[in-house]
Amino acid sequence: MSPGLKLLIVDDEKQNRALLTELLKDDYQIILAKNGDQALARAREHTPDIILLDVLMPGMDGYAVIRALKEDDRTRDIPVIFITALDADTDEERGLDLGAVDYLAKPFRPSILRARVRNHLQSAHQRRLLEKLAMLDSLTEIPNRRRFTQVYEQEWRRGLRNHQPVSLVMIDVDLFKAYNDAHGHAAGDLALYRVAQALEAAVRRPGDFVARYGGEEFVLLLPEADAAGARMLAEQARRGVEALHIPHVASPHGWLTISLGGATLVPDEIHAESDLFLRADASLYEAKRQGRNRVEWASSAS
Ligand code: GH3
Ligand code: MG
Ligand code: MG
Repeated sequence: MSPGLKLLIVDDEKQNRALLTELLKDDYQIILAKNGDQALARAREHTPDIILLDVLMPGMDGYAVIRALKEDDRTRDIPVIFITALDADTDEERGLDLGAVDYLAKPFRPSILRARVRNHLQSAHQRRLLEKLAMLDSLTEIPNRRRFTQVYEQEWRRGLRNHQPVSLVMIDVDLFKAYNDAHGHAAGDLALYRVAQALEAAVRRPGDFVARYGGEEFVLLLPEADAAGARMLAEQARRGVEALHIPHVASPHGWLTISLGGATLVPDEIHAESDLFLRADASLYEAKRQGRNRVEWASSAS
C-alpha cells in the first residue's frame, strides 16, 4: 500500500482514538474525529481512503454517520469498517446492511485489524481501477461511449439547473474506409489513436470532454460554451488533426482529415436530451456534404 493513503478514525473515546492511531500511524496518514458531525466534515474535506467508525457515540451514532456518508456523492464510495466493543448492544447485520464493508469487535488483535484495513483498501482500489477501465476505450485510451453517456446526462442536468448552454460536436474521420484500404488496418488503428490524442490536446478547458463514440467517430462535449466559442474550439480541433499530417493517399488533401458537426442548446423542459444529438448529427451530415474537412453548426433557430 502506498504511504499516502488516508485513514479516518471516528471514536468518541480519546483512549480508543489513541490506540487505533498507534496501531496504524506507521502505514497511513491518520485523520481523527470524535463525533458524528466532525466525522462527516472531515470525510468531506479530506476524502479519506477508508474510515474506521465507532458504532456507539453520543449524539449521532455510527449508523447515522454511515447513512449520511452514503447519501453524499463525495463520500459514498469510501469503505467503512465499523468498530465496536464485543459486549456492546450493537447490531452487526444492521451495520452491514447500511453499507459497511466490515465489522470488527473490540478487543481485536492488532495484526487482524491491520490485515482487514489493508484488504479493504486493496479491494476498493481494484474496484476503482475496474470502473475506470470499463469507461476507457482500449484502442485510443480516451473515454468510451459509455462514459460519454454518463457525462452527457450529468452536463444536461447541470445545464437545466443553471440555464447554461451545452454544446455538442460530432466528429467523423473523412474517407477512413479508403485509408484502411490504402494504408492497412494497423495503420488505421494508429491513426485513430493519434486523432484521439489530437482532439484531447485541442480542448483544454476544464469540463470539456472528448470520447470515442464508436468506429471512426468521436464526440466533443463543451459545457457552458456558447455557439461561437464552441465552434471556435471545433475549428481548433479540426486544424489539430490536419496538422498531424498523417499521409492519406486517397484524400484530396493528401492528409487525414475530420468533419465536425456541432449544435448548442440551453437545456430546458421542452427539449429532449436527444435533440442536441440530432442537431449535431445533421450538422455533421452537412459538413460531409459540403466537402469534408470542415465544421458546420446548427443554427439555433432550427
Ligand atoms: P466518410 O468521409 O463519408 O465518413 O467516409 P468513411 O470511409 O470514413 O466512412 P465509412 O463509414 O464508409 O467507413 C468507416 C470506416 O472506418 C470503415 C471501418 O472499417 C473503419 N473503422 C471503424 N473502426 C475502426 C477501427 O477501430 N480501426 C480501423 N482501422 N478502422 C476502423
Ligand atoms: Mg462514420
Ligand atoms: Mg468516416
